[in-house]
Amino acid sequence: MKIIIIGSGMGGLSAGIRLAAAGHEVTILERNSYAGGKLSEFNVNGYRFDAGPSLFTRPDLVKELFDLCGENFAEAFPFHRLETLCHYFYEDGTKVKAPADIELLSKELEDKLQVPADKTIKHLKQAAEMYDLTKPVFLDNSLHKLKTFFNRKAFRALFNLHKIDSLKSMFKSNSQRFKVPKAVQLFNRYATYNGSNPYKAPATLNLIAHLEYNLGAYLPANGMHQITESLVQLAENKGVKFEFNTQVEKIRVKDKKVEGVEAGGKFYEADVVVSNMDAYYTYLKLLNDEKIAGKILKQERSSSALIFYWGVGQEFKELDVHNIFFAEDYQREFEAIFDAKSLYHDPTVYVHISSKLVSSDAPAGGENWFVMINAPARRGLYTEEAIAVTRKYIIAKLERMLNKPVEKLIKAEAVLTPDEIDSKTGSYLGSLYGTSSNSRLAAFLRHPNFSRKIKGLYFCGGSVHPGGGIPLALLSGKIVSNLI
Ligand code: FAD
Repeated sequence: MKIIIIGSGMGGLSAGIRLAAAGHEVTILERNSYAGGKLSEFNVNGYRFDAGPSLFTRPDLVKELFDLCGENFAEAFPFHRLETLCHYFYEDGTKVKAPADIELLSKELEDKLQVPADKTIKHLKQAAEMYDLTKPVFLDNSLHKLKTFFNRKAFRALFNLHKIDSLKSMFKSNSQRFKVPKAVQLFNRYATYNGSNPYKAPATLNLIAHLEYNLGAYLPANGMHQITESLVQLAENKGVKFEFNTQVEKIRVKDKKVEGVEAGGKFYEADVVVSNMDAYYTYLKLLNDEKIAGKILKQERSSSALIFYWGVGQEFKELDVHNIFFAEDYQREFEAIFDAKSLYHDPTVYVHISSKLVSSDAPAGGENWFVMINAPARRGLYTEEAIAVTRKYIIAKLERMLNKPVEKLIKAEAVLTPDEIDSKTGSYLGSLYGTSSNSRLAAFLRHPNFSRKIKGLYFCGGSVHPGGGIPLALLSGKIVSNLI
């Protein structure tokens, strides 16, 4: 079949490679001049930055694409497994180094936070169980096809629903288990991995910790952008055609079936169209269907982010690849992000430094800091003044908690706001992960991977099932290709 894919994000690339490997004629139309969507890169004054994602989990999903194309993953895709997952800093001076080994982590949390080791071990064992139970139904298949529910694995999941802790919030479940507020905060943080609020999201999301602690966290040898580059290369090797600077303006439909798409005054005929564009914008802009667009909008968007990219002229030995400087009042921070939709004066600051492992990412003696705070997906908030004030809060916090100057070491700088995430990647309001998982029903309300009304129209990417983040976007491409 002739297949058009709108967008070259993780979902579009994964679908494109799979469909081309299955023998279809695939063209990916991308409105930017580059591939990858949120997973892009840029350079400032000798510092290289990954613009979006910094944490890579489930490399097996990339390997699967190499295997499918008969290419050698180990040779073509070198990557590091992180021994330390994150350095956590608290305002009272407590520091936790979280090793990627459950026994070592449980000892560290016992030493630093006085959490009995068996509690940490039990928590991560339960995370693994929840992941194994929910994966076949909620991650690997379409949630909107009956056959997903009529097999042994699905029955097992349905009979064991009581084990997935969906009736409590993450905060409630973690407070009951750990009692120690700093440990509760550390494990609550996993809600932000899909842009959700731990005070509202079901405790089932505790399974996200399993990805890092049990399955591992990674960094490609050349930085995150290596994922985009490798997938584009794989796709081209399989005969996928890319057309950049090509914005799709309309999906043409006749007798409830797709005919193709219109872009730049040209018509691209297709038997099948896959939209890797945000589902809300697809309905609003390409299908003129305000009714379904409005329905999608009823679901809460995931959080967005405000990011400062700093080329720093010094090495900080106390920092690692991933570092978190916690807000003193985590609950207030989430109330600001999701309820008041405002910028918080003491945000949790995430600092990612890829140059710790990829030395070419910064000049000798320097580091490339990706400094991010979670922020509301909202328009009109990110004025120059608001950004400057937040920058001051962040610098003051880092200088206080590191007890070192930071601002005067900044040699290069760039900023990314939610408005720019929207305009550069087409993610409505700049949300990082499509819709949030702040309710028990969120997984069921996410848009399906296919249209119920239009034959030949499919959807992949972070705004549809199974959700946002690199692994899930890659899986959405797999689900779509299986459905087709
Ligand atoms: P997107 O990346 O959203 O790409 C969609 C593509 O479609 C874009 O290239 C866009 O230009 C194109 N497009 C849109 N409209 C049109 C049109 N009309 N015509 C043609 N092309 C169009 N995930 C993780 O796993 N780990 C992380 O650490 C992490 N951190 C993140 C940090 C940031 C700052 C951001 C922004 C995201 C982060 N994520 C992270 C989330 C992750 O990046 C996304 O969930 C994932 O990359 C989304 O992939 P996607 O398939 O939805 O495509």
